[in-house]
Amino acid sequence: MLESQLIIFDCDGVLVDTEPLTNRVLAQCVTDAGWAIDAAYSIVHFKGRNLTDILADVEDHLGKRLPNLLDDYRKRMYCEIHELGVPAVDGIHELLDALDGLGSKAPHRCVGTNAPLKKAKLTLEGSGLMDRFARRDEPNKKTIFSAYEVGKWKPDPGLFLHAAAAMGHTPASCTVVEDSTAGVVAAVAAGMQVIGLADLTPAEDLLEAGATRVVESHRELAAELVES
Ligand SMILES: [Mg+2]
Repeated sequence: MLESQLIIFDCDGVLVDTEPLTNRVLAQCVTDAGWAIDAAYSIVHFKGRNLTDILADVEDHLGKRLPNLLDDYRKRMYCEIHELGVPAVDGIHELLDALDGLGSKAPHRCVGTNAPLKKAKLTLEGSGLMDRFARRDEPNKKTIFSAYEVGKWKPDPGLFLHAAAAMGHTPASCTVVEDSTAGVVAAVAAGMQVIGLADLTPAEDLLEAGATRVVESHRELAAELVES
């Protein structure tokens, strides 16, 4: 991580703890459409994937078109985020503090998410993380990148390659922090190092997808940086 010039953080599940909420809402919507699944099923089969592919899976399973499913999901999801808020992922502030503590040696950082920019900004603001991604050297430079802006979703490497180029770094000098196999596959395909954050997705799945290493908590990385 220290050797990297840019750290690209995934958003959901790495910065903001949205996965329990979003998978619960998605499971409710799919259940209402006629396929009874729960949040645990959604986490295993849908987490980290793009919604269009998920919709195709659900339509295949039910053998019918569901033109309102995604709108229904987004409406309910934004409503719950507004109502309930979302917490920052445990240990992320400590990791960002440790990176800040490196001063001029600190790598740049940015966010690369499959989610729409609106959702990323809403959840980052709500969990107090938005300001922590402002660049010190160029405060007005963009640091939050959405797959919707490039039209390529993880596991496609396009978003990570776009983020690295926009931040002014080569793929080989980047480290990605990811909690889903789709994100790990995207980072590997982009030619980047990738640290898997094992939580809802088990460590062995992240390693099998190609993660360079896996940690159980951001605190492990923070401790290494403080010791360095
Ligand atoms: Mg994620």
